[in-house]
Amino acid sequence: MINIMRNALILLVVMSLLLSCEQKNSVKHFSSNAEVERKLDSLLSLMTLEEKIGQTVLFSSHSTVTGPVMNHNYITYLKQGQVGAIFNATNADFIRKLQKIAVEETRLGIPLLFGYDVIHGYKTIFPIPLAESCSWDLKLLEKTAKVASKEASSIGLNWTFAPMIDVSRDPRWGRVAEGNGEDTYLASKITTARVKGIQGDDLADPQTLLSCAKHFAAYGAPQAGRDYHTVDMSEITLRNVYLPPFKSAVQAGAATFMTAFNELNGVPATANPFLLDQILRKEWGFDGFVVTDYTSVNEMIHHGNVNTLQEAGEEAIKSGVDMDMQGGVFRKFLAKSVKSGKVDESRITKAARSVLRMKYLLGLFDDPYRYLDAQNASDVLLHPSHLELARTSAAKSMVLLKNKQNILPLRSSQKVALIGPLADDEYHILGNWIGQGDRSGTAVSVKEGFEARGAHFSYAKGCEIEANNKEGFEKALQVAKNADVIVLVAGETERMSGEAASRTSISLPDIQKELIAALNETGKPIVLVLFNGRPLDLSWESTISDAILETWFSGTAGGHAITDVLYGDVNPSGKLTMSFPRNVGQIPVFYNEKHTGRPHDIPEANERYTSKFIDVPNSPLYPFGFGLSYTTFDYKNVTLSSDTLTTQNPITVSVEVTNSGNFDGEEIVQLYIKDKVASITRPVKELKGFEKVFLKKGEMQRVSFELTVEDLMFYNSNLEWVAEPGVFELMIAPNSDHPFTHFFKFKI
Ligand code: BGC
Repeated sequence: MINIMRNALILLVVMSLLLSCEQKNSVKHFSSNAEVERKLDSLLSLMTLEEKIGQTVLFSSHSTVTGPVMNHNYITYLKQGQVGAIFNATNADFIRKLQKIAVEETRLGIPLLFGYDVIHGYKTIFPIPLAESCSWDLKLLEKTAKVASKEASSIGLNWTFAPMIDVSRDPRWGRVAEGNGEDTYLASKITTARVKGIQGDDLADPQTLLSCAKHFAAYGAPQAGRDYHTVDMSEITLRNVYLPPFKSAVQAGAATFMTAFNELNGVPATANPFLLDQILRKEWGFDGFVVTDYTSVNEMIHHGNVNTLQEAGEEAIKSGVDMDMQGGVFRKFLAKSVKSGKVDESRITKAARSVLRMKYLLGLFDDPYRYLDAQNASDVLLHPSHLELARTSAAKSMVLLKNKQNILPLRSSQKVALIGPLADDEYHILGNWIGQGDRSGTAVSVKEGFEARGAHFSYAKGCEIEANNKEGFEKALQVAKNADVIVLVAGETERMSGEAASRTSISLPDIQKELIAALNETGKPIVLVLFNGRPLDLSWESTISDAILETWFSGTAGGHAITDVLYGDVNPSGKLTMSFPRNVGQIPVFYNEKHTGRPHDIPEANERYTSKFIDVPNSPLYPFGFGLSYTTFDYKNVTLSSDTLTTQNPITVSVEVTNSGNFDGEEIVQLYIKDKVASITRPVKELKGFEKVFLKKGEMQRVSFELTVEDLMFYNSNLEWVAEPGVFELMIAPNSDHPFTHFFKFKI
């Protein structure tokens, strides 16, 4: 018996090694081009230590400030060959001017990289990333990333600080707006799509950008959801939940990585050899370059693990950082550190080499202006096809949370009272991090969407988003009384989510609640249309509204997209990628939690002494994967090609999905499994597949998934990547809140 177990164990370890080798081998190696490597050798042999350090220096040229303001005299440094890259330059002439200085006025004429946060669009703004993730539409996400890169590269940029791929289960954390929600599997798939969209197949294509997977790592799990706060988590959780999207980024060929502001288990992520050297480089085989987040080297002084900036720089470069964003520490101190023997010059050479390599691969040494010359920006920015894509992606990102008695879609004969602080908004609708998006009125407001379709409506603002003033209530009530239905556009300002926008209350501001309560007195049905960058506490609103349409921050074409959905031109198909809690006290609440030893939901559960709250159920208000449609979908006849999965024999699982309602529509079919017994406790369920299908009314389609051994793998307590034999439960369902219906075995 012991022998059998030992053999099984050896097999598992061998299997896991094989798998990890396979994954490492599939990684794109930027250093595999012999000609580029030869050029690098000869260039580096000409460079002084200071010039090599210059390649590790990134300065902001102006404007966007997301941290301490540093008045670096970057033009002087640039002329001295002490700057390798610039970010926040967003004007083609200016970029050309800076590039000219680099090429013509420095000793070696090395061109600059130009980076920028192109998070959900450059000029044409797409829905915020959290919204787009709710489309579960990987092709669409790839397309919007591609268009954003095309626009950004048209003015000369060649590097974006995206995608942001931090898994997060805490809606208090404002940066959930920039991510893909709570699920590791879905976030990993989305990462692949976005990296492909941003970079394309060829780094030298001047209509694409270098991507930057950020923020490495575990930035999405700060204590209490407070931005930049401490992260303390087990390595098992880190590896099973937070790291996989980053590994997908490496496998998809992400050229650069950004460190995170947080500390992880006592060590700042910006100088963390475990993350940057051990995992990223050694285990995953990444050979792009690593940039810090904004002044995060300097912030180690506040973290309290170094005494001086010089020490901070030493820790960062030694642990695997190649470029210092905005802190100026590398520029100022690294040469001293080399001279005093604290840092080996070969480490600096390696960092410079990894940055210079990207410049070669981008083609900048052949033509430093090729990004500037490749496209005519005015033909590219806000191109009609981009605006059309913005409209489509916004509509596909919306999630219908409630639709009592099919109040939606609205009928054109109905008279609508369009009310709310965000109903005529062209500013917040763009969301946070909008690149060069225009907040001065070029986005389409909901009111403009109503006007464009000649809808029968009257408008009243009602109140401001936050200011506690009820003067507008009276007019809003009048408008409501004369209408058949109220469409109330409510929500957050764009500044209430995003970076440095953590909230301890995730409710609608009080004044908006009061407006809803007053409108409710009219007895008219209320359709609540929401703008927000995070899951909100909608416990009260969900009882009082007849319909709720979650539109997030929907971007440049948002108003059109919202009316497309409200009037049924587009049947909503988005599904939540983050659970909506019943209240903040439940946080974190996410679908793939652990069972505990005292689950509340088993037949023999004791009434009191189980793992639950005594005031609200354990379940969220709206679960992961949830979203309604104007039609209905029936699921039946789940079949498995075999009841046993082995390493050689994956199984195919399929289900018949029928559009049983009255509208054509898209459905996101989801496959979940549970590992019943394992050497460590496993989540109550885990998403392992999804398909988005379009079905005409009455149409049926069999939707299939393949389950392989890889879908069963996890890091065990020895931190080995294994699949363990045993029984797995399975379900195919429209959202995560369904019971398991089938099972299969995994045998070695
Ligand atoms: C953010 C990064 C961003 C950087 C540069 C930081 O404050 O955390 O996500 O890329 O600023 O703008």
